Amino acid sequence: MSRTIKKIVIAGGGTAGWMTAAALSKLMGGELEITLVESESIGTIGVGEATIPTLVFFHRLLGIDEAEFLAATQGTYKLGIRFENWRDRGENYMHAFGVTGRDCWACGFQHFWLRARQLGLAGDFGEYCLERRAAEAHKFSHLPNNGLNYAFHLDASRYAVFLREFSEGFGVKRVEGKISEVNLHPDTGYIRALKLDSGRELDGDFFIDCTGMRALLIEKALHTGFESWSHWLPCDSAVAVQTKAVEPPVPFTRSIARESAWQWRIPLQHRVGNGLVYASSYQNDESAREQLLTNIEGDQLTDPLLIKFQTGRRRKQWHRNCLAVGLSSGFLEPLESTSIHLIQQNIVRFLRFFPQTEIRQVEVDEFNRQADFDMERIRDFIILHYKVTERTDTDFWRHCRQMSIPDSLATKIDMFRETGHVFRADNELFVDSWQQVMLGQGLMPERYHSLVDTMPERELADFIGQVKAEVDSKMARLKDHNAYLAGLLPDS
Ligand code: FAD
Repeated sequence: MSRTIKKIVIAGGGTAGWMTAAALSKLMGGELEITLVESESIGTIGVGEATIPTLVFFHRLLGIDEAEFLAATQGTYKLGIRFENWRDRGENYMHAFGVTGRDCWACGFQHFWLRARQLGLAGDFGEYCLERRAAEAHKFSHLPNNGLNYAFHLDASRYAVFLREFSEGFGVKRVEGKISEVNLHPDTGYIRALKLDSGRELDGDFFIDCTGMRALLIEKALHTGFESWSHWLPCDSAVAVQTKAVEPPVPFTRSIARESAWQWRIPLQHRVGNGLVYASSYQNDESAREQLLTNIEGDQLTDPLLIKFQTGRRRKQWHRNCLAVGLSSGFLEPLESTSIHLIQQNIVRFLRFFPQTEIRQVEVDEFNRQADFDMERIRDFIILHYKVTERTDTDFWRHCRQMSIPDSLATKIDMFRETGHVFRADNELFVDSWQQVMLGQGLMPERYHSLVDTMPERELADFIGQVKAEVDSKMARLKDHNAYLAGLLPDS
């Protein structure tokens, strides 16, 4: 069987480009000739520093040593996101990565908790989630068997450098240059080569578009089209600034809702990443910049960086001999730190669908269907945060409460409100997270599963008590996050 895909060209060297290069070279390097072209004069987007736990698995797949990665990227551990003022001003909750409590075959833990709470037998929902308690207590450790479910905060520019070294070690050739033309085969419409400013041409069998929001290959050359979701997610702008750390890094991201915006705070070892995501129809750039600068701590290390974005997805993420990875494939605002996850999803999915001989449309279509599903479910989860709010203090929040939402999300909200159930469709990413966010935003189910009523009160109290004791005992084994991190790093 002879492969038709032997030469791969990756256009763009941001997080998407170098993650793609790292995975393809490590996992298929011997069989492929991989070239990555990037332009220092254009640079990268310069944000994208909070992740979710799937990155841990990506690193394991590639054999990346965690301590080396943390040292190279000034990384820290992340156990969740603290949402402040989202439900209402002064109300906070944590969306932590772990599972809360223990499910039974018939229903989730929330059903037991709801009844126990009515009977005065249970504390706050978060007391039964190890990651939430650990985050709040600023603790972290790797525990054997069912330890913490964690992710990282990382410095995006350092991460690209780290992955570049990794990829070059597996044979990736980097070319510095600006792509000025994308040349297509006249008969098939497939991409034939990328022409650089220097006149040099990079030909290939398959092209991966990691050119960020420019989408030079998938859109500018192949015109696949873009589906906008801005009617559901009104934010379209961000301003970002880095500051010196004023306290040891905490193992969670902060997401602080403002009048017509929300602010992120991402703690790294050496600095903090800050940004304000806002809707330009409610707040102008100057006032956003001012709002961010009055709400940061520590010396400012960079000038404010203004970023405009469009929320939505490319109509086809794989088209002909081109795959879009990263911002070129679409964008969902960073509220749940899901973009790097979507990068890795496209990479791993591409490896699964890697054309054995020629590109088959049936595989391309299935790839695109799965990629669409992933994005839609994450989109719904992000919209949930805006929709289910009790805030009525500004036009922005009043709009969010009243705006129409996708049917898929409306069903999920109604199901939880009326029955307490959350069901997982296919392999959707977030499961337990739905309950944490819905409860955190004040959406309390009207009833719980009737099966729970068959449990004698005493048994329910014992069950809830046992779950709490398990979390307590694991908590006692965790160390201070900063001390644990320092102990892992090679030069400490
Ligand atoms: P880019 O970083 O823009 O890289 C594009 C590359 O293409 C660059 O190397 C550039 O030089 C190259 N290029 C472009 N045009 C040419 C050309 N003509 N010739 C040669 N090279 C070219 N994601 C998360 O997971 N977590 C977060 O916390 C998070 N926060 C975010 C906050 C904001 C405000 C935004 C907008 C995004 C955030 N993201 C986050 C998304 C994240 O930044 C991106 O998914 C990630 O950085 C990948 O970007 P990229 O590599 O696709 O694009």
